[in-house]
Amino acid sequence: MSKLRHMSAPLSSPPLQNFSWSPEPEQWLNRFARLSAETQARWQAPLGVSWQGDPLPMPAWVAVNQGLAADIGWPEHWHLGAESAGLPGALSVFSGNAAWPGMAPFTSVYSGHQFGVWAGQLGDGRALLLGEVDSPIGPQEIQLKGAGATPYSRRADGRAVLRSSIREYLCSEAMHGLGVPTTRALSLVASPQPVRRETIETAAVVTRVAPSFIRFGHFEHFAHSGEPGHLDALQALVDFVVEHHYPELANEPNRALALLDGVVKRTAELMAHWQSVGFCHGVMNTDNMSILGLTIDYGPFGFLDAFDPNHICNHSDDRGRYSWNNQPQIGYWNLRALAQALLPLIPEAKDDAQVVIDVLQTYEQRFPEAMRARWRAKLGLQASQDEDGELAVALLHTMAASKADFTITFRRLCDYRADLPPEHAANAPVRDLFLDRAAFDVWAHRYASRLQAEGSVDAERAQRMRRVNPVYVLRNHMAEVAIQRAQKGDYSEVQRLHQLLQRPFDEQPGAEADAGFPPEWAQAIEVSCSS
Ligand code: AMP
Ligand code: MG
Repeated sequence: MSKLRHMSAPLSSPPLQNFSWSPEPEQWLNRFARLSAETQARWQAPLGVSWQGDPLPMPAWVAVNQGLAADIGWPEHWHLGAESAGLPGALSVFSGNAAWPGMAPFTSVYSGHQFGVWAGQLGDGRALLLGEVDSPIGPQEIQLKGAGATPYSRRADGRAVLRSSIREYLCSEAMHGLGVPTTRALSLVASPQPVRRETIETAAVVTRVAPSFIRFGHFEHFAHSGEPGHLDALQALVDFVVEHHYPELANEPNRALALLDGVVKRTAELMAHWQSVGFCHGVMNTDNMSILGLTIDYGPFGFLDAFDPNHICNHSDDRGRYSWNNQPQIGYWNLRALAQALLPLIPEAKDDAQVVIDVLQTYEQRFPEAMRARWRAKLGLQASQDEDGELAVALLHTMAASKADFTITFRRLCDYRADLPPEHAANAPVRDLFLDRAAFDVWAHRYASRLQAEGSVDAERAQRMRRVNPVYVLRNHMAEVAIQRAQKGDYSEVQRLHQLLQRPFDEQPGAEADAGFPPEWAQAIEVSCSS
């Protein structure tokens, strides 16, 4: 075990002698925690409570995201800082055992709809906001996941297991690499502390970074709580989000309505982006929907392998509510829940909710438009034509009938030679993915004439398409190998995958297997809500 640990030497090396570091205390802005104190003082409706993590025994770094650390202006060895003169070392801070001066650890309350049913109060049951730090890429909130029970844990343990924490760490960075808006992951810490799930596993803490972790469920909470001051707190939350995260809406006559419009737009774009990379979130409950349109809360997610539009990645989702094909509709459903929550702040809607419905219904144009633009890019089309969506859907039908691999099909399509017939040997790599070659040929002829109509040049098209059709996505089996090794103390595969997935559009030497079909055993992997 100790020998294996050695493989991740740069991370597990002892703290640098005499090196200690933390951001300057005044860099911590902690605006959300401050807002909570204000709403508490004015209306007795706090957004959460100041809190501290439960001690995590024997923490060790599994992975540290130096790229993100550099983006937020932290020095190279930030994670090796040792405790000095009362300043805790980074490992203590990012395992939830201590806080740096200026941090204001805080855990927040929200509610939500889970699987279509009102679930009432939820909240950060295992997330702890350490604080909000100013940075070269703007203020960023830094949050631990799995730092122990909070007032919102509802009798659960407040922990996250190493397995699911590796999945969150890798996938949030993989999504970032793909260009999909997402919360980020700064570090991953493991501990031998046992955690009971279906079996006994061990605890881990992921540090997440985002401009804000506010969810649709925050608004639902204050809209539906019925406590004194709840609508004032709701308005304060709207004002906060608009002023800090949608400043272009600050002067709109009704901020709640304007915010809804902004969130509808971002959510439509996010759904189209997910669909285009074959990402399935798995638990699109309203408490897992970011008000900033970020991908948030990585649990039983999955990327499509053999294309099945009804693919359900979450083993606990027996009805397939959150299947790949349903995601855009569920995004819309969730936006309706958000609209409902914002209604009390929109006086124009008192007698006639049509103003709100009109904003909501823009989703019915915005999503298909965003989706068409994504498909167009994936097919390398430059001109926009009404039937582009249909051309993509026809391909998806053909892929589904043949169970063609989603990622591999689109990647191989980059090199499709439209100047040659589909049956030409040069086109075999993509054509051979289809059991029904004739069906592919019918589609390919249509594609080729569409390309010719816009004077498309194959080599240039290939270049464009390689920037939107990834070679590498985090398939379940890849994460699984990293997890199994990490559970034995070898973190090198976590680090290798993190590196690889930072540049998912570039072929990388030695990573041929990661670009290939999933192995047979991958089908047996079951991913559920248990995390
Ligand atoms: P999720 O479906 O993972 O987004 O979680 C839904 C709710 O359950 C959130 O309020 C979480 O904070 C809470 N939760 C999930 N797992 C735990 C846990 N192990 N301990 C405490 N709360 C949890
Ligand atoms: Mg959640």
